[in-house]
Amino acid sequence: MIKAITFDLDDTLWDIWPVVVRAERLLHDWLAERYPRIADRFTPLELRDLAVDVIAARPEIAHDRTRLRKEALRLAARWSGYAEFDVEGAFAVFFAARNAVELFEDVRPTLERLARRYPLASLSNGNADVRLIGLDDVFAFSLNAIDVGSAKPEPLMFEAARRRLGMRPAEIVHVGDDPDHDVRGGREAGFRTVWVNRIHREWPGGARADAEIGNLAELEEVLAEWESRSA
Ligand SMILES: [Mg+2]
Repeated sequence: MIKAITFDLDDTLWDIWPVVVRAERLLHDWLAERYPRIADRFTPLELRDLAVDVIAARPEIAHDRTRLRKEALRLAARWSGYAEFDVEGAFAVFFAARNAVELFEDVRPTLERLARRYPLASLSNGNADVRLIGLDDVFAFSLNAIDVGSAKPEPLMFEAARRRLGMRPAEIVHVGDDPDHDVRGGREAGFRTVWVNRIHREWPGGARADAEIGNLAELEEVLAEWESRSA
């Protein structure tokens, strides 16, 4: 019996890469005005890649994409010769644009219908803000790797959601696009899993999800079938 549904966010409810690329460009424009030596020295992509150096130096913050971005910006400022740098201002530019996502068409209607029947929650490794995105009305709660201190596929986020829902793992369905983070992680936590494959990818190998869907509307059919089998 299914009693609750958890959802991944990025690439499950919206396309994230065009949004990140735009956010990085806006941040770069902002830097070019206020800290031109940073913008001259680093392209938007090179600024993103600085996170790799940050992770190498500070693996304990690898799960925290907000801190990674801020530390990478601090590093860029230092290497560009700025002793003073408004890291919060810079991050705010990125963060506002990062949350200006466009939901896939099927997302809001499906989530609204499902929210009348099940508690829904979001479980994300990213730093999306569901309130800024305007989805806080459909989710009972939202967890991310920053709050939990650990990213999917590690079991901690799933376990935190399960405890908060007060259910057994087999009563919860996790829905997401990432074969490893969402499908393997969810399965290893004991959840039922649904792989959202919007772009017709080949399954990369390993145990498959309990169901595969090409869009969120198909989730309702999957749930109906599982419910008819358990009835
Ligand atoms: Mg995802």
